[in-house]
Amino acid sequence: MIPLSQLSLEKARSIRVILTDIDDTVTTEGMLTASAYAALENLQRAGFLVIPVTGRPAGWCDHIARMWPVDGIVGENGAFYFRYDRERKKMDQHFWASPEELKQNRTKLDAIEKEVLASVPGSALASDQAYRLADLAIDFCEDVPALPESEVDRIVAIFERHGAQAKVSSIHVNGWFGDYNKLSMAKTILADVFGMGWEEAKQSVIYAGDSPNDEPMFAAFPFSVGVANIHAFEHRLKNKPAYIAKGHSGDGFAELADLLLAAKRQHAS
Ligand SMILES: [Mg+2]
Repeated sequence: MIPLSQLSLEKARSIRVILTDIDDTVTTEGMLTASAYAALENLQRAGFLVIPVTGRPAGWCDHIARMWPVDGIVGENGAFYFRYDRERKKMDQHFWASPEELKQNRTKLDAIEKEVLASVPGSALASDQAYRLADLAIDFCEDVPALPESEVDRIVAIFERHGAQAKVSSIHVNGWFGDYNKLSMAKTILADVFGMGWEEAKQSVIYAGDSPNDEPMFAAFPFSVGVANIHAFEHRLKNKPAYIAKGHSGDGFAELADLLLAAKRQHAS
């Protein structure tokens, strides 16, 4: 991981799209700071496309797509994208699975939920589970005392034994049925909504993240950045981001925004 300050202005100028994780990448200690929110807003105002790519639930994503300065959002680790069309006053939603598949998957996820809660003491259903449509989120660090890594691994193993995918964020283990992840749905929104093919995306997108569920994005995008707190997860990462910010969480995200905005200003002047 190269220090973000070494990303050349010339390379930075080719970036037009910011895809970003939310928890512990844009937010800091569970809160959205004014400076991180301003970074999102300043990027969008300067003409960048800003698209959060998160494990957070559909209920939150409806709010974020509608009210935050973003051009769309990928949620529940790639189960869907939402985009609010301000001119048509319409929320466009695209799901990986059909409503019927979502219903069938929920029955299977309910069985996993019972098994995890019964066999991993200290784990809990994530407090945002009620607003999820496609996945099951088990809390190991958000509203419960942090579980040791061995217990996080046990939660993952239960999902996998049931044939589900499982990814570890900084706070939850998220599991789902279906062959998708943050990357596949990010490609879908870029192509469907913004007409951007993969070759173009590789040149013009940067992804910011902080944890193992960001790995598919770190692996795929030549421009990727980890905020400094990614060091805590470094030993779990097979695919690391190309660059690393000096700042933690929202400060690291603001650092990225400052760099991209400076590159753009310099180009314009
Ligand atoms: Mg995160």
